[in-house]
Amino acid sequence: MFSDFTIIGSGINGLLTARELIKAGATITIIEKNQFGKEASWAGGGILLPLYPWRQAQAITELVKISIKLYPNLNTELLSHTGIDPEWTQCGLFITKNPDLKLATNWCEDNLFTCLPGTEVQLQAFNTDALNPIWLPEIAQTRNPYLLAALLQELKSKKVVFLEHCSLQNIHTANNQIETITTTHGKKAVNQIILTTGAWTGELWQHLFGTSQMNIPEIYPVKGQMLLFDAKPDLLPHMILDDGRYLIPRRDGKILAGSTVETAGFEKQATSDAKQQLYNFATRLFPVLADFPVTHHWAGLRPGTQHGIPYIDKHPEITNLYINAGHFRNGLAMGPASAKLLTDLILNQPTSIDPAPYQLSAQH
Ligand SMILES: Cc1cc2nc3c(=O)[nH]c(=O)nc-3n(C[C@H](O)[C@H](O)[C@H](O)COP(=O)(O)OP(=O)(O)OC[C@H]3O[C@@H](n4cnc5c(N)ncnc54)[C@H](O)[C@@H]3O)c2cc1C
Repeated sequence: MFSDFTIIGSGINGLLTARELIKAGATITIIEKNQFGKEASWAGGGILLPLYPWRQAQAITELVKISIKLYPNLNTELLSHTGIDPEWTQCGLFITKNPDLKLATNWCEDNLFTCLPGTEVQLQAFNTDALNPIWLPEIAQTRNPYLLAALLQELKSKKVVFLEHCSLQNIHTANNQIETITTTHGKKAVNQIILTTGAWTGELWQHLFGTSQMNIPEIYPVKGQMLLFDAKPDLLPHMILDDGRYLIPRRDGKILAGSTVETAGFEKQATSDAKQQLYNFATRLFPVLADFPVTHHWAGLRPGTQHGIPYIDKHPEITNLYINAGHFRNGLAMGPASAKLLTDLILNQPTSIDPAPYQLSAQH
């Protein structure tokens, strides 16, 4: 018998959606064209807050606020079920330059986040021209590769069927229902389909349904590169954001420097130019980093949308097709609430936030 839901794509949004549906008693198959959990969700930084959230749409804040509350429990459950610690860490975020300080403090007040003035002592280790620095002590990070590994292991133990290196290529509909799909592993009968295909969703949708359709999700790849320094634990006690770029300290002392924002189609080669830019940024801001080697440099493809608002909806005509994609720069920060919202929509349950901004027909 085939599963209740076939989820296409095994990034954070596919895996968290599977987890929510399993809690509701559903059976799941996950189809992934590459390796499980190795695209944007692996490549990202894991900051659980958008950069300067007060400059973003309210629809982003709504998903972030709920997700932030869900993370500690998600971490505890995954650690106890799998032994893998996703390292949810409330290390705080220091933001060096805030020309829009009033907006920032109002946003924090409205959304109940502590926002303190950054102090001279906090700034001592950094080389930057600070302007209205602020300190957000409650902001956390997750070590996203570990989070994905824990989710995969937990889902395997729940009898999810995983098809790796298997690409969705076509769908076959009758009476406004998808009956079968064609994949690189052959044809399969399906019950319900969920697209969590990240940066590939816009292109895939056009391929599956053509361009004449209304409400094509405008999701496109936005390349981002990251650098990893092999530093030592506690060298940098918190995350720091300076002029749109950031440093993230992991528990084992590794420090990530990110990120670039590039339009390069589906090409995701790491480039020497970006490596130099990120290196210069990191060692200028935090000069002691120059004493430590760079051990990794990589790129990922964010699922870009114009305003960064994801599509979380049911297809308007095809009755067994759903989407949870287009999280742009904040898929980890919005993931748990996005999965919960889609699951509530699928199960016809009341939603904890207004689903309208995430509908296929809305502005994203
Ligand atoms: C450099 C960088 C830094 C980032 N930093 C942060 C951060 O600090 N905080 C934050 O919240 N977010 C961050 N992000 C954004 C975040 O990583 C993304 O928003 C999120 O990972 C999107 O998750 P996803 O599951 O939708 O997509 P993905 O993780 O890309 O997963 C989609 C999957 O679908 C698969 N797929 C696509 N088409 C098909 C098909 N036809 N058949 C089968 N499988 C298919 C893909 O292979 C892929 O594995 C960052 C991203 C980058 C690149």
